[in-house]
Amino acid sequence: MKKLFFLLALAGIMISCRQPVKEQASSAASDSTKSEIKIVDNGNVTFDKYFSDKTMRLDYNHSGSSKEEHFAVDGIVSDGAWPGSKFVLIDKLEMGPYFFSVIDKESKILLFSRGFASIFGEGQSTPEADKTWGSFNESVRFPWPLKPVTVIIGIRDPQTNKFKTTWTTDIDPASRVVNPADLVHTNVVDVIQDNGPAAEKVDIVILGDGYTKIEMGKFRKDAKKLSAFMMDQEPYISRKKDINIRAVETPSEVSGVCKPHPGVFKRSALGVQYGVFDSERYALTFDNKTVRNVASQVPYDFMIILVNERTYGGGGIYNLYATVSVDNKFANYMIVHEFGHHMGGLADEYYTSSVSYEAQDIKLEPWEPNVTALLDKNNLKWKDLVTAGTPVPTPWNKEPFDKFGYEVQKQRDSLRHAKVPEEVMEALFMRQYKQEDEYFSREKYKDAVGAFEGADYTQKGLFRSQLDCIMFTRHIHFCKVCQSSLIRVMEQYTAKGPGK
Ligand SMILES: [Zn+2]
Repeated sequence: MKKLFFLLALAGIMISCRQPVKEQASSAASDSTKSEIKIVDNGNVTFDKYFSDKTMRLDYNHSGSSKEEHFAVDGIVSDGAWPGSKFVLIDKLEMGPYFFSVIDKESKILLFSRGFASIFGEGQSTPEADKTWGSFNESVRFPWPLKPVTVIIGIRDPQTNKFKTTWTTDIDPASRVVNPADLVHTNVVDVIQDNGPAAEKVDIVILGDGYTKIEMGKFRKDAKKLSAFMMDQEPYISRKKDINIRAVETPSEVSGVCKPHPGVFKRSALGVQYGVFDSERYALTFDNKTVRNVASQVPYDFMIILVNERTYGGGGIYNLYATVSVDNKFANYMIVHEFGHHMGGLADEYYTSSVSYEAQDIKLEPWEPNVTALLDKNNLKWKDLVTAGTPVPTPWNKEPFDKFGYEVQKQRDSLRHAKVPEEVMEALFMRQYKQEDEYFSREKYKDAVGAFEGADYTQKGLFRSQLDCIMFTRHIHFCKVCQSSLIRVMEQYTAKGPGK
């Protein structure tokens, strides 16, 4: 499935984190360990019986092509205090293309689990991955085990939509290959909001890339301003007291970051670069360990990297991090949108308009909570939120909207090829924004929750829940389904008692 990066490269549209489910050609481990796993206490064991109050970080290299993938341990280190819940240890949401579980080696009791997405997984869907191997450093983080454990990484099976084991490794916390020493941190930390103990809150760390020492004042201002904007949106505004935000200052020797497409090459502190997977607007860093080491100065569950640039760009990967270019006119939109991918595992609800209307044969329900293939109309995954009296699928004037979207796309492509200044592109986005408002204002079901066709890069056969959402357009408002999905994730991190 190469549609994602083909579209991104072609359109350079809003930034994505979607990872397709793919065929797994090789399996490094059988499912035998998995079948022996015992679940006790409804999945949530007594924390102090199995863990000490710090974070273990397993770094590994994840390599391969579109046809195969391999894992190898890189290092096992301490990553600071444990920031997650001590009561909800098992991830019952089961989102993401990957999923890891930590098992007590002796008793086979399931101790911890979490879904995630990876840059490797995204690279695997590019045409280059058919010919060339890619290799990425990744981490999984979990509470520090007192006794030997087995870590199992599962990948989503495209046939069953369930996770199957792709790699296992044993870790003995007393072994010499495990380094329990904490890093000595010297960076300045700015506490933006502190609402209580990390283990009872969603903890967000903000890092900056491409800010020089003398730009640290700007970083502090950007971090404060953008996080405050995000906290003013639902569902965060109602849950403000459940969220801590800390910024760690990470000065670079240069201002700005690497932008290979226009030929701007730089080496910034965290290694963020535009043009990832040849998509001009896709900005990520591959320097996993540098980023993790800096972030671990404070307790964190989620991470935002502010990129000191005006050029439109960013990215958001489920349970890895979100990036956003701070000086772009749409930075407010980007931080909310990308963080939605990163924390909530939300899919993009937009699709690139084109003239063809070929129906696709979609047999698999996407794992993301905010898009559906509507394979079973009577069992819509957000059926509890559907507005009474709304037909499913829900009619809307898709054709004129798509026609307009296609025209904007064409203009955008030609502006980019003409290498116009950023403000010309921003003006086009503003015109698009206003015109979309007009289209939506005429719709009968404009505020209803139903199932509107067109979502997740797919014009036909995939559906979103409401006419508009920040995962669909640049209007800054999450649809009700996205809001409730984000709340479900937050509850995993804020539980103060045994999980249900
Ligand atoms: Zn939505």
